[in-house]
Amino acid sequence: MLELSTPIKFVKRVGERVAEDMARRGVETVEDLLYHLPFRYEDRLNPLPFHTLQAGQMASVIGEVRGSALLRTRGGPMFELTLGQGIHALKCIWFNGAYLKDRFQAGQMVAAYGKVEASRSTAGRFKMIQPQFEMLPAAGASSREAEFVMLEMGRIVPVYESLGGTTPWGAKLTSRWLRRVLWSILEELEATQAAAALPETLPGPLCMRLGLPGRLAALRAVHFPPAGTPMAELMSAATPAHRRLIFEELFYLELGLELKRRRLREREGIAFATSRTVREAIKQVLPFHPTAAQKRVLGEIAAEMRRAQPMRRLLQGDVGSGKTIVAMQTALIAMENGYQAALMAPTEILATQHYLGARKLLGGVLSPATGKPYRIVLLTGSLDEAAKREARGRINRGEADLAIGTHALIEDKVEFANLGLVIVDEQHRFGVQQRFRLMKKDTALDPDVLVMTATPIPRTLALTVYGDLEVSVIDELPPGRTPILTRRTTNERAAEVWAFVRRQVSQGRQAYLVYPVIEGAKDDQPELDFAQDAPPEPEPAAKQGKARKSRQLFPRQPLRSATEMYEELRNGALQGLRLGLLHGRLSSDEKEVTMRRFQRGEIDVLVATTVIEVGVDVPNATVMVIEHAERFGLAQLHQLRGRVGRGAQKSYCVLVTGDRVSEQAETRLAAMVRTQNGFELAEQDLQQRGPGEFFGTRQAGLPEFRVANLVRDRALLELAKAEATRFVAQPDPTLERDQIQAVWDRLKLQWRRRYGLIEA
Ligand code: ADP
Ligand code: MG
Repeated sequence: MLELSTPIKFVKRVGERVAEDMARRGVETVEDLLYHLPFRYEDRLNPLPFHTLQAGQMASVIGEVRGSALLRTRGGPMFELTLGQGIHALKCIWFNGAYLKDRFQAGQMVAAYGKVEASRSTAGRFKMIQPQFEMLPAAGASSREAEFVMLEMGRIVPVYESLGGTTPWGAKLTSRWLRRVLWSILEELEATQAAAALPETLPGPLCMRLGLPGRLAALRAVHFPPAGTPMAELMSAATPAHRRLIFEELFYLELGLELKRRRLREREGIAFATSRTVREAIKQVLPFHPTAAQKRVLGEIAAEMRRAQPMRRLLQGDVGSGKTIVAMQTALIAMENGYQAALMAPTEILATQHYLGARKLLGGVLSPATGKPYRIVLLTGSLDEAAKREARGRINRGEADLAIGTHALIEDKVEFANLGLVIVDEQHRFGVQQRFRLMKKDTALDPDVLVMTATPIPRTLALTVYGDLEVSVIDELPPGRTPILTRRTTNERAAEVWAFVRRQVSQGRQAYLVYPVIEGAKDDQPELDFAQDAPPEPEPAAKQGKARKSRQLFPRQPLRSATEMYEELRNGALQGLRLGLLHGRLSSDEKEVTMRRFQRGEIDVLVATTVIEVGVDVPNATVMVIEHAERFGLAQLHQLRGRVGRGAQKSYCVLVTGDRVSEQAETRLAAMVRTQNGFELAEQDLQQRGPGEFFGTRQAGLPEFRVANLVRDRALLELAKAEATRFVAQPDPTLERDQIQAVWDRLKLQWRRRYGLIEA
């Protein structure tokens, strides 16, 4: 008897060899295959008649083979197929289509799917370039075929992404093949005791209330949609059947997260006091009036710190919204309560800047609680051994109230005497595991944790991705900011850019020039300042097929690098200005000296790599020039631009590209010019790259979804979260005891199998 757990090799038509191929794609059991959903559908019940076609639309058509020819062209062999429908005809064209030469016979029926384009050679007629196609079974097909004719024609037909392998006789595992296998599986499951073979996974009353079909019915309907299912719903995964499967996946995810959150709330943390003296301590260091958003957020943080449970909070705020001061205020609460605070940053430069900033902010004042100055130490990987040992010693003996640093802070050698608060800046640059290591440090009571990020993502999404974190948002920029003017240009017009930089410098302003690499062509590596400090970010732009293709179309141009351009500009276009060079391969002393000189205005133009991407704050800098801007990801571009526009002066961002830019990069650059709103850009980035790339799946600890897509299915995510919370708090009274138990059992199974996260 077929069951969900049956290994795929025992399924008819599959066998040992094919099963091996499929295993490589993560399909090992009947269940895995059932959840390999179609990525699109073709309406072969109502294919579009040729005479109704319109240029530009994606269309599914069926026609009779009228003729075909292999043509020699300058670009190579081109295969041309003419499909007919009564007096109407449609041309299908495949480049390099020699392999198709003998495949078609006149009179055969063919289904084609592709983009309709006007044919230039024949007025009023259309063509499809490289359409996907399938030969349809002839009316009098052999008996073996006949059984499946109805899977190919006269219905809505599912189309699958290939599972990569080949059948024993060497044919590809086509959609047609998958349809037959899936059809047989579903037939067999339905014929057997469905309850045993394919257990229901959501309580009946819940499905009923939400209008969701049962599991088996849903699986059948996504693979073989009944006639009349709206195509638009199918294509956007919005049929009740799709919704059911997606909801189920998200419901169990949210249920698990909700339990984790609850368990955390039961743990014992420090109940910080926020008495008058604490508030005074905060007030006496404030260099400016906080914005309403900063005040509100601090209030949220303080309220949670007062509670005797450990805080786990995410502070979101766009670039330049003023997260640092909130972090400092939070640290003060901990310090005034007699605890140590740790502030961790992803790069040395940022850690050092925070250290200098903290010394400036807290340097002149005494703690109202102790009457003594605050003791601040810096601990980064590239300090020399003695300095590191010294810093660790002070942290360990409780002689440091505030420890600021990079990853070096979470090394095993670092033991805090009395850690009460951990702040992680630019959290998106850290892996989840690292975050947890700092949280776990220390002894009896869990320290409070505040993680900060400039990646603005919707709340539910944040709660899902960051699972256990509550979210606070700074949704307002400090007053007096003028919008940054963003322009695109090509490197042929570089002279104008340098002239502009000169003008700005002559008005007393400063500029950043950013390059993707440290040194020239031989060293075509993206900057990895954080190589020793943090896991590298995925390269800008997706690494998938698309990116690879565009690389071929747009052969690499020689890259200008920070080091070379520093030399070139210093002796050329920017001669006479004071230039500085900053990148990840300099020693930390060199970096610090350069950064300080830039901060003090002793450097006019800082030529740098992405080491300055996050956090760097020099309000007098008003120009950000990014060369090879097409090579940077949207989040990076936005972060880099955020280095300017921090003072009252008008600021500028110039995106310089080569003359040929891929379509994807084009979209990114256009978005940068269009808007400065980090939320909008994050949204765009999320759409373009998908959640996996966007969050750096593994880095964010985000599970791989089988059917859900966090971008597309946001509404269902909300629903799943609400239902999960409700289920934990107070299950529906109409649910039977064993229905509830079944959900918990399922949860355990799912979390262990899929996310490997179960801990209790
Ligand atoms: P981010 O959120 O990107 O970390 P920062 O904390 O670096 O932003 O703040 C950006 C700049 O704005 C800094 O120069 C900071 O001093 C300034 N700033 C922050 N809050 C205020 C405020 N309420 N009023 C005026 N300036 C502020
Ligand atoms: Mg910052």
